[in-house]
Amino acid sequence: MESISIVMLGALKRNEAFKDNCGVFGIYAPGENVAKIAYFALHSLQHRGQESAGIAVSDGKKLRSIRNLGLVTSVFNEDNLNKLKGFIAVGHNRYSTTGGNTRENIQPVIISKRGRVFCLSHNGNIVNAAALVKKMPNISRSSTSDTEILAYTIYKAEGGKWKDKIIKAMPAFAGAYSIVACSKKRLYAFRDPWGIRPLAIGKLNGNYVIASESCALETIGAKYIRDIEPGEIIEVDRNGFKRLGKLKNTTRNFCLFEYVYLARPDSILNNKLVHEVRHRCGEILAKEAPVKVDLIAAVPDSGTSAALGYAKVSGIPFGEVLIKNRYIGRTFIQPEQHVRELGVKLKFNPMRKIISGKRIVIVDDSIVRGTTMKKIVELLRQFGAKEVHLRICSPPIRWPCFFGVDTPERRQLIASRKTISEIRKFIGADTLNYLNLKSLIEASGQKKDTLCQACFIGKYPMKVNYNFKKDIFEKEAT
Ligand code: SF4
Repeated sequence: MESISIVMLGALKRNEAFKDNCGVFGIYAPGENVAKIAYFALHSLQHRGQESAGIAVSDGKKLRSIRNLGLVTSVFNEDNLNKLKGFIAVGHNRYSTTGGNTRENIQPVIISKRGRVFCLSHNGNIVNAAALVKKMPNISRSSTSDTEILAYTIYKAEGGKWKDKIIKAMPAFAGAYSIVACSKKRLYAFRDPWGIRPLAIGKLNGNYVIASESCALETIGAKYIRDIEPGEIIEVDRNGFKRLGKLKNTTRNFCLFEYVYLARPDSILNNKLVHEVRHRCGEILAKEAPVKVDLIAAVPDSGTSAALGYAKVSGIPFGEVLIKNRYIGRTFIQPEQHVRELGVKLKFNPMRKIISGKRIVIVDDSIVRGTTMKKIVELLRQFGAKEVHLRICSPPIRWPCFFGVDTPERRQLIASRKTISEIRKFIGADTLNYLNLKSLIEASGQKKDTLCQACFIGKYPMKVNYNFKKDIFEKEAT
């Protein structure tokens, strides 16, 4: 994918916003090494956030945590994990935006007051954080993330027990939140009533685990049971698993972009294997936008499943033309334009012998600004490609996301200001075709009205504080 989460631009106004795009994990398992299990689960959720990681573990009396900037493998080691003894673990991988990648914002967020402890990991983005802060003038915040505001709202809510506080607080939150939380003795999981971000329950040796994606469950040997429903609240303690309830007025607005790019291809979302959805996108695109070429290739790895589908239907062989350096992370974590541009070359090494003299279809999941794709096309031509045809397995992205994916302001989205033919020209491809929305929805196997499609069509499932005329994120000071 071409950088939907690139760090932000002239978006100084949006810097005031709170935003995350993260992976969460939780486990309640007496007798197991929960810290190590959380480590391996976070490792398989690394694609959801690569800037910081944290694990908090409770032994019923004390909650200990390790949280730091960096990838899971650099934050944790055998020694520090061995210090996290207990039977409940909550973990988090974070992707933040400008100004946000600081120590204070690392999760899980822990609130510890008057002997009471509450710990929370969040994937999503709250759109009414400023309004929530106004209702709590006396809190002393130690971070700039919306997650701390969620945690404080729960802490301040009515009720003696954490479960009562969660139930009371949830109706006040607007936005996307898939949350795993714990007190000293109990594990909780809950999801916003729109069901925007994924959250799955699994079972491991008779114990319960919760993860952003089912791929993490498989990695640790857990069996996927089901997704947590929109607005649903779960508690796990020594008496087992309990559904505490479900918010009224829930809808379904699951993020369509999870299928396109965000989730791992081996995850199951709403009973659909993501790889199969992407493969199907490629198949449809091959029927809708065929072209005579010698080779079908992908921008690795985000376009691979779809390229395989395209190759299958077209009958043209699939081949690798770009070798990805898997050790430098996604392009989008590069904060500066010049570093990002250099990053394309660092990230993809084209193979001249395979490319030279060939007509190539290159398949990718989406185009955001167009700059990375332009570089890729230039690289392929430099390495001797006779023709480069682009096939994109999602519709043009024309609108920003406010629900946990850090997109640029609208004017930075190439499809919001250029026609498809102008985009093709800018990128320098011989032809360019996008998958249409109807086909993407068909490939996802979901009903149209159960999906958020806002970044494609501009229709948001709730009110957002964006001034579309001025193209700025309007935030009250928080
Ligand atoms: S706006 Fe796009 S990325 Fe954001 S939740 Fe909706 S579909 Fe997903």
